[in-house]
Amino acid sequence: MKYFMPYWEDWVHRDFDPIKDTYGKGGFKNSLFAHEIFNPPPYDGILVSLGVFKLKLRLIRENGRPTIRGYKNIKKYLKLPSSFPLLGDCGAFTYVSSKEPQIEIFEAVEIYSKLGFDYGISVDHICSEVITVEKEDVDKFDFTDAKPARGGRVKLTLSEWELEWRRELSLKNAKEFLKESLGAPFTPVGAAQGYSVETYVDSVKELVKMGYRYVAVGGLVPRSTDFISSLLEELYREVDLSEVKVHLLGVLREELLPKMASFGVYSFDSASYFRKAWLKAKENYLGVDGNWYASIRIPDSSNPRLSKRLKGNYENLKETEERILKNLRKYDRGSLREVGALVEDIISYDKLFYRGEFKEDKYAELYLKLLKSKIWKECSCPICRELGIDVVIFRGSNRNKRRGFHNTYLFHTSLKEHVKSESEFGMNYI
Ligand SMILES: [Zn+2]
Repeated sequence: MKYFMPYWEDWVHRDFDPIKDTYGKGGFKNSLFAHEIFNPPPYDGILVSLGVFKLKLRLIRENGRPTIRGYKNIKKYLKLPSSFPLLGDCGAFTYVSSKEPQIEIFEAVEIYSKLGFDYGISVDHICSEVITVEKEDVDKFDFTDAKPARGGRVKLTLSEWELEWRRELSLKNAKEFLKESLGAPFTPVGAAQGYSVETYVDSVKELVKMGYRYVAVGGLVPRSTDFISSLLEELYREVDLSEVKVHLLGVLREELLPKMASFGVYSFDSASYFRKAWLKAKENYLGVDGNWYASIRIPDSSNPRLSKRLKGNYENLKETEERILKNLRKYDRGSLREVGALVEDIISYDKLFYRGEFKEDKYAELYLKLLKSKIWKECSCPICRELGIDVVIFRGSNRNKRRGFHNTYLFHTSLKEHVKSESEFGMNYI
């Protein structure tokens, strides 16, 4: 089972210095990707949503050719070896609230072909039960409920008719996409959408009938684990998975991994281990012992966004911050032992940046657990080796994203071991 990392312009600065807390200029020229840090890469492939070109990165046309920051080939841009699998999708979540997909079929085929994708997913439309639209667009949809939403917009609950219309449109597009991509340099992947287990299974079957040998199941992100589990069981029963590769888009549910592996799911993608590094309150650093640890928040007082939170003028703020960082590194080296006083110092500094309630007891306990474990010292990955204790410090995207890369690496390593033992023992989870 292959794990794909969704690409969302997540790179770090190559010359970042954690001690001086600096990095050089040069923007993208100074970029470093996770697959340049780890050898082999901490994923088996990369998924690039064409939505990234709308929201994060401009696709510029040079003599009619799409280019990314001057690169004509996306693997060159990503500094990937040419054999590394690259899957593209249309970014259906970016237009989920529109009546129709916002990308033409020929356009998707052209971008996948010219930028050098290995696989390209057909142009689909998510059967999302609830969408939020502008007032003037309400009449375009068939819905069962409408409620006022923020900014004068309207939250619609789509009717089954509308959901089925989206599903059939996705199938119709897939048929045309397959025709358009005949002779193209990438392998077409059919997008299966649905709004019930039955409709999803039917979409997969239809795509196989059309001739697809690789199918991506979309729109599953908001679905419950039970729903995805039933869908897997039905797919296993109804579709010959040795004939067609199945990719689950954006789905990583730990409890389902054994089932996915034993049912022969070919691939999936998710950035959840990566993003947890800074999005979760308590689970930011995955230890080699399999437990999650909170990372230690040391807000950067020179960051204008963070210093805005300070209520008054604090004397010696910079000195306190520097003392804490120094003491953390001393603790890492073993030349400071008084961990209780260090945690108190950290908490009283961090507290200055919060307007609302600050759960200091909770964080004190979490920080003590992390510091006493010194768990980062047990990881032999290049990031933990290079950063030392800075990998567990929550501060700036260079540390936070590197911590996310470490989490991804541990996830990928355990997935590989797991999948290997599954196939060795031939376990069956039905
Ligand atoms: Zn590590």
